Amino acid sequence: MQTKSRISLDPSQQLAVDRALLDSTNVVAGAGTGKTSVLVARYMKLVEVDGVPFDRLLALTFTLKAAAEMRDRIRAEVARRMPDKARFLFGAWIQNFHQFGFRFIKENAPALGVDPGVDVVSPAEFERMERWMRARFEAGRIPGIAPDFGGDPPTPIELPTLFNTLMQIVHKCRGNMIDPVRMRELCTAEDFPAYVARVDAVVALAVEWEAELRRRNLLDFSDMIAIPARALLGDAALAARYRDAFDHILVDEFQDTSRAQNEMLKALSGGDFSRVTVVGDIKQAIYRWRDARTENVIDFPAEKRPLEINYRSRQNILNLAQALVESTEGLQGFATELKADRGEGAHPVLLFHPPHEETSYELEARAVADWVQYLLGRADAPRAWQLPRMEESLKAKDIAIVMRNFRTSRSRNAIEDEFRRRGIPFALIGGAASAESLALEAWHELLSLLLPGPRVVNLLAVLEARPFAISEASLHQLLHKARDASTAELLSEERVQRVSDERDAMVVRSLREAVALLADAHERLGFREFLAWAIERTPLRYEMTQAGVTTTAVDDLVRELLELGDTLSRHGAVSLASYLDHLDATLDEGRFREEGDVRLPDDRIAMMTVHQAKGLEFPAVAVIGVAPPRTTSDEHFTVSTEKGIFFSEKTAARWMRDRKKAPEYEPEKKQEELEERCILYVALTRARDHLWVSTPFADGISGSRRSLFTDLMDMARTKALAIELRSVGEERLHSAQSSAHTVADAEAEDALRTWVDHRTGAEQRELSSDVAPRALEPVTWASLARYETCPLMFSFDRSAVARVATEESDVAAVVPRDFPVTKLPEGVDPAGFGAFVHAVLEQRNEQGAALEASLAAVAQRYDFGRHKEALIDTARERIVAAIAVGLAGPSDKAQSELPFQVRTQRLLVHGVIDRLDDDGKDALITDYKMGSPDPEHHFQVAAYAWAAQKTLKRDARARLVYLGLEPVDVETVETNHERFDAIVAAMEHSLDSGTFEAKPGAVCATCAHRTVCEFAAPITSSQ
Ligand code: SF4
Repeated sequence: MQTKSRISLDPSQQLAVDRALLDSTNVVAGAGTGKTSVLVARYMKLVEVDGVPFDRLLALTFTLKAAAEMRDRIRAEVARRMPDKARFLFGAWIQNFHQFGFRFIKENAPALGVDPGVDVVSPAEFERMERWMRARFEAGRIPGIAPDFGGDPPTPIELPTLFNTLMQIVHKCRGNMIDPVRMRELCTAEDFPAYVARVDAVVALAVEWEAELRRRNLLDFSDMIAIPARALLGDAALAARYRDAFDHILVDEFQDTSRAQNEMLKALSGGDFSRVTVVGDIKQAIYRWRDARTENVIDFPAEKRPLEINYRSRQNILNLAQALVESTEGLQGFATELKADRGEGAHPVLLFHPPHEETSYELEARAVADWVQYLLGRADAPRAWQLPRMEESLKAKDIAIVMRNFRTSRSRNAIEDEFRRRGIPFALIGGAASAESLALEAWHELLSLLLPGPRVVNLLAVLEARPFAISEASLHQLLHKARDASTAELLSEERVQRVSDERDAMVVRSLREAVALLADAHERLGFREFLAWAIERTPLRYEMTQAGVTTTAVDDLVRELLELGDTLSRHGAVSLASYLDHLDATLDEGRFREEGDVRLPDDRIAMMTVHQAKGLEFPAVAVIGVAPPRTTSDEHFTVSTEKGIFFSEKTAARWMRDRKKAPEYEPEKKQEELEERCILYVALTRARDHLWVSTPFADGISGSRRSLFTDLMDMARTKALAIELRSVGEERLHSAQSSAHTVADAEAEDALRTWVDHRTGAEQRELSSDVAPRALEPVTWASLARYETCPLMFSFDRSAVARVATEESDVAAVVPRDFPVTKLPEGVDPAGFGAFVHAVLEQRNEQGAALEASLAAVAQRYDFGRHKEALIDTARERIVAAIAVGLAGPSDKAQSELPFQVRTQRLLVHGVIDRLDDDGKDALITDYKMGSPDPEHHFQVAAYAWAAQKTLKRDARARLVYLGLEPVDVETVETNHERFDAIVAAMEHSLDSGTFEAKPGAVCATCAHRTVCEFAAPITSSQ
């Protein structure tokens, strides 16, 4: 029976969807063929036509993002087609493999011998555990490892590399359900002692890793697949229970599944894969390094159902990708010719390589930048390229620069430089998700120290991580026998004195000071204000920026953190404990996140690896730096289930154990070569309309080694699939200028004019570029004030020793210690009241009903208890007083709580302006204060005026409005942009040169760093 689907399907998709409930189906879904639509339609067919309840269908995907997309689309279909059933969707099993594994383990914890409270190791914890084990390995403290490594001991320099290799083998074994002890059993008397010692080391590290996970009651990614797979294979009753629980199983991205995942699936389906629909494409199999097996697709026992229409790319792009597949041994059986639904492209595919016999990363970078400027409508393409005019320019977010590998790509470095030079905005996507979660995790642990109860685990996490990172020995001394100790006990002077390393002891004391300041702020500020304070005054922003997370992404995350606090407060009083609980749930989600779950910038060109780009599409894609494949590196190894472990030739040739001797070597090498071609196929098929492929090598050949670029070029030449380019814009323009005397006057003039226009444009863009060459230092007005007071004090604040809040004056600046007009009732938090008044002012209401409505609405977000009415009266009275004298109230020209950012070469100066009245000619900044006047307020608002001048490109007036005075007082703020320019310039110089001058004086008396500062002025009685 054919499904009457509301999802419009083409004939090949419909055939795949309409398979019977009991059928197994292998859907071959090439790039852009609408596989998610097919999965959703198949899911709906099983529900609607076959009558399968939601909770008896299991849908497994590879990434969280794919699972979320599938869930959303199914929810939308169900809401439209069977709204009365929508409420049953909550029991649906639509997850990624690791979420399913975790759910399985939790459901069967006692039977599996697992603690029911077990959790998933986070990326931060994973890193900490490896660091912990590395330190013990290097100190020779892992039991079972021979100190002389079988007579071939590594040098101290080789130890870290050896540890990495051995741990990779441990994870490889865990991921493939291979017991390392089996490797030891395979050792014979003929094996060299050095080899046997290394196998012993693998066994010892595997035992230690497992023990460390259990000690912390955690599971890693391998556990989440291997534990369910073993249980299902070894326990027939358990397997039968799960087999009977599901009527059909759907699997996305099947080519990316590992042996263990395949075993799990087989057991769930009753051992024969019946009632299973898999969707995959071995042309896109690019996760072999993470144990994915294309054999799972090839051996799947069902007829192949290829999807034939591509809904993403233009035909000329598909033709080049198709030519690549057809020339690849091992892929021909999967080379279904794709037809482009969107027809032929108006823009040719471009292949760029430098002129003959030249290797030039710079030329490639300039060519890519020329192409990008052409797409963005910033400049014409070089004439020699003869490209059609862009009818509609693209936006930066429409373009992706994709490469094989981030770290080793010299092409990427050159392109980054060229983009900066030309002011082309871009963002590196690599590692951002993980840097975000590491920084967030560290922040979560730091705030957890403010909670009562045993805190040793949180303190361990804080002190192990940046910026503190004290040694293992110091941690041991500090935390010995501290299982049930609170934060105060753990950081007590008595304990700190046990730490023999002086630097580490100083770090712990700095942390103690920081925790005290956080606790103080937490006690005195309202929760929202405390949250904002804790975000800006702890290392969160700094660590993320340093790790290369884009400022847009950091801002997004900060907004999410604040919104989480707002959401919780809308549902009742929010406490730090409940906030951290909810944050923990967010972090948990990150623990199931795969590499494909990336966050993209919305205003920049994304630079990413092919693996990160998988599953994404862009109007324009540049595949850069195509180079000959790497040769076997030192880290490489092969684990043979029949013959044991083989290492790289360089390491192990002398023990007769180099990789080439492994029976798996030749097939693995073939698979590696095949995967390189799949990676290029995935890269090419990300593009919708514009595709660029380039290499820094002439003809794509480095020395005598060919790259896949050479193959593409050969195909393009024979079949006219692309245009081959070798020149770049500036090269052409420069040569036109230098040879101007040899060409006709008109031509020379034309060339010179083009050159001048081009340079002027480039220089203007360079001036207005918002791309900083290095990591930006996020600073507030308070940091500027601190730097001006004493650069060394600022440096101490941001140093590894105390990169957390250590400055009382910031708290003083936001907390009104007194409220001059009305004494607030006992127990009312002045900062909370101040925030309440600000929130009402933000509404810019008139007097009367509108003001009353604002007061009532905003008051709901605050827990003023029995003082509520009195405080509303006070707020009303102060706001009405301000409106009466024209210092508050409605205006079309006013913006409230306006966040700003000024990016300089090295700084990101940010803050929030209470109110800006701007009619396009005259701008006026207003900052409302509840407390008494203070000279520091003038510095703060003058900094805002400076920031406004930078953003609006004209001067703004500035004033302070003291609402707590009777009558309401207003002070004009003198602006002084030169002063702030000078501070910023000096700060940038300090950051670049690493020199922070000390300015000892009266200020030292209140400096939090005087105990560690050798320049601190002595405290005199007059101070
Ligand atoms: S003690 Fe004085 S000189 Fe040292 S950092 Fe503090 S303010 Fe600067």
